[in-house]
Amino acid sequence: MFETVIGLEVHVQLNTKTKLFCSCPTSFAEHQNSNTCPTCLALPGALPVVNKEAAIKAMRLGYAINGNVNHSSNFDRKSYFYPDSPSAYQITQLHKAIVQKGEVFIDLKDGMQKRIGMTQAHLEADAGKNIHEGNHSKVDLNRAGTPLLEIVSDPDMRNSDEAVAYLKKLHSTVRYLDISDANMQEGSFRCDVNVSIRPKGQKKFGTRVEIKNINSFKFVAASIAYEVQRQTEAYEDGVYEREVRQETRLWDVDKGVTKSMRGKEEAADYRYFPDPDLRPLIVTEEMIAEAKKMPELPDAKVKRYIMELEIKKDDAMVLCSTKELAYFFEDMLETGASPKNSVNWLNTELLGRLNKVGLNISTSSVSAVKLGELVSKIDDGTINGKGAKDILDILIDNERDIDELIESLGLKQVSDDGAILEIIDKILEANQDKVEQYKSGKDKLFGFFVGQTMKASRGSANPQKVNQLLKERLI
Ligand code: ADP
Ligand code: MG
Ligand code: ZN
Repeated sequence: MFETVIGLEVHVQLNTKTKLFCSCPTSFAEHQNSNTCPTCLALPGALPVVNKEAAIKAMRLGYAINGNVNHSSNFDRKSYFYPDSPSAYQITQLHKAIVQKGEVFIDLKDGMQKRIGMTQAHLEADAGKNIHEGNHSKVDLNRAGTPLLEIVSDPDMRNSDEAVAYLKKLHSTVRYLDISDANMQEGSFRCDVNVSIRPKGQKKFGTRVEIKNINSFKFVAASIAYEVQRQTEAYEDGVYEREVRQETRLWDVDKGVTKSMRGKEEAADYRYFPDPDLRPLIVTEEMIAEAKKMPELPDAKVKRYIMELEIKKDDAMVLCSTKELAYFFEDMLETGASPKNSVNWLNTELLGRLNKVGLNISTSSVSAVKLGELVSKIDDGTINGKGAKDILDILIDNERDIDELIESLGLKQVSDDGAILEIIDKILEANQDKVEQYKSGKDKLFGFFVGQTMKASRGSANPQKVNQLLKERLI
């Protein structure tokens, strides 16, 4: 029996206005090489200056994961030659990162939480892009020098579910912190997956391979499954030493396999040394105060929803899984809608309908205020659930006034005792034989009376009222 060991390195592109060491914009540029200057082109004599906003955003993550934020950290040069990096080195933080240690708690399927230790989070500059067209290649340096935060976990995960849960938690956290848009398709949140296996009970770790640059949760799970099988088979066939080497591999999306890319470099291969152009990054009190301005994070939010709003744990976890959903929910509550009905109408009714028409919570055609207004009408008994569903079906396609819809569709619930009693009395009158049977113990007939009354009111009677009044009449 084998145990899987996984550690993840995540590259998050920070959403700063300017690059990490110069004042070039990080925004999209129509023309290649237009967002560049002597510094990010690495022209001789140009000097880098650290971007304070990037440092603050890195620090904010540090505080959020309960890490040590170093008040003085250093930049190092990682030497390698590749056309997308004109300086022939990358500026990164090897020896003393801005954030060291920390922890993230992941939610396991059995409802328990597990602590994943963090090694460090360091700032580094992204490279440019090589563009290959026909038989020639071009270099675009618009991205060169944009700030990345590399977040490195300890090898604490033991299967792909844990790895994916960790990534989802981290993804949602950086979005709550608003330090990155974390768009995976566009590469602002990409990850390197380190995987090894070892016989159960063995202390020493096995040889790890690193699968580079994966940008979807699905591929993370698939590439881990593939590697675990490959490594296990090699072990069982007695060729582990030969087949499983410390190397960098690529995930082949089409074939669903990992492929060897290159032998794993050792730190020495990169000739790391302190960048002589950059002094230590010193953190000021003002930066600390700014970095500690933090929104409520998912774990705290889930707890509060359960304790204060009396929402079920599973529902609270769905709501807090993304900030868009949580903030939508909180905006609904602002309108006075009850938490209990809001959860159901958001998670089930709205999301279900949006999904059908190819929308999501960020592009929702129904605003939080509108849905809150609708839920309030259910809360106070103006309409029943069935009526609200009809209204929501309309609101998905059209911006309409809810009161007008209630009026024109005749959905107003009858909650008035007198009106309902009038119907009840007619029903009981017409079914005296059943009333006798009920009174002599046939309890099941109660449902029959409720059904008849609802039917006679053409669905407009308030069901709670009907229940209550029927009980009183049938004593
Ligand atoms: P590098 O930066 O060269 O890839 P690091 O020492 O920073 O190397 O480790 C990178 C990642 O590999 C970390 O996330 C760590 O948790 C993980 N890791 C280290 N050893 C193992 C192992 N034996 N199996 C799986 N993951 C590992
Ligand atoms: Mg690595
Ligand atoms: Zn520049």
